[in-house]
Amino acid sequence: MNYRGRIAPTPTGYLHLGHARTFWIAHERCKAANGTLLYRNEDLDVDRCKEEYQKAAIEDCRWLGIEWEGDTINQSARIDYYQKAFKKLHRADHIYPCICSRKDIQEASAAPHGEDGETIYPGTCRNANTSTINQHANWRFRVPEGKLIEFEDAFWGPQSFTCGVDFGDFPVWQKNGIPSYQLAVVVDDAAMKITEVVRGADLLISTARQLLLYEALGLTPPSFYHCELMCDENGKRLAKRHDSLSLQTLRRKGKTPEQLRSDW
Ligand code: GLU
Repeated sequence: MNYRGRIAPTPTGYLHLGHARTFWIAHERCKAANGTLLYRNEDLDVDRCKEEYQKAAIEDCRWLGIEWEGDTINQSARIDYYQKAFKKLHRADHIYPCICSRKDIQEASAAPHGEDGETIYPGTCRNANTSTINQHANWRFRVPEGKLIEFEDAFWGPQSFTCGVDFGDFPVWQKNGIPSYQLAVVVDDAAMKITEVVRGADLLISTARQLLLYEALGLTPPSFYHCELMCDENGKRLAKRHDSLSLQTLRRKGKTPEQLRSDW
């Protein structure tokens, strides 16, 4: 099968060195396999995504020397596909509506925290009678308690996560009509026929969630390569708020792509 990769920035801020490194690795792995790289613009969060960031991300990636095929694929134009997947999950009873607020979940007794620091959903709405639930709810995926999700990461090696222990029932649809990151990414990676997903190691646990969605939707998952995350001088993970390390700032200071790469 021909290698198909993608880079998938979210335009909620300027790209930083960490994104540059991840996207560069995606580009290099694709090039080494003589494959095709696609650019997906993850612009579903209408409140936080900005055109300005979208433009800057494309410009930054081009400046880095990353080449992709065709136009960018915008998630905001793909709601119909996500809705189809939602219906399929609903029909098979993989999902349920949840009316809990963030505060309810925080306050629920003994709600432990999962691997990525997220409070594990205590299951309050799991067995509620759905007909009595407000239509405008958030929807969650019912994870099979205790099931072990295993996969091989091309960088980190064998991975395993336990459903209900490392993560709980996770959101697939929000009451504002927008799919969750997990659902959109799975629908898109499958539709774009991606053979290898290259992204940051913060998403290793999300891969476990996404593998459940692939299975529930009857889709074949790609393979995965999670890149090491970059930290600032205080050991804190780079985030979009680190303006001093944004590509826009570094470029303005006269850095070249080669100089950035020499530090990786
Ligand atoms: N859009 C996500 C991000 O910027 C990456 C999603 C993915 O690669 O699956 O962190």
